[in-house]
Amino acid sequence: MLRRGLLRRCPVCGEGRIFSSLFRLHRACPKCGWVIEREPGTVTGPMYLVSVLTLPFAALLFAVFWLFTDWSPAVQVAVGIPVLILFCAFALVAAKGAWTAVEYFTDVRSGDAFREGYRGRAFRSPDRRDS
Ligand SMILES: [Zn+2]
Repeated sequence: MLRRGLLRRCPVCGEGRIFSSLFRLHRACPKCGWVIEREPGTVTGPMYLVSVLTLPFAALLFAVFWLFTDWSPAVQVAVGIPVLILFCAFALVAAKGAWTAVEYFTDVRSGDAFREGYRGRAFRSPDRRDS
């Protein structure tokens, strides 16, 4: 399942593409109908994951610059910042894909995840009022 997510495929069927564009997830798998974005804030987990991965990567990158180049600090920053931005972009796509597999794995028994219009347990429509 995790491999399918990292390859940007549906963790359920393995055939449907989970991204509608480079960074945007489909609402549901185009092949099997599994609801991918089940609740608002689905991207929070991948964002945490990327921030945890980016800090050691940045430390490693600037250590490599410091040890193996004679670049000035200004050049190191001028080269390092775009590299970090690219790293974050690709890591976010991979993390979003992997996170769909984690969400499926942790909610695999819920048949609700296949129902059209399912928005997750925590989501309530703003116009819905409980009496
Ligand atoms: Zn699918």
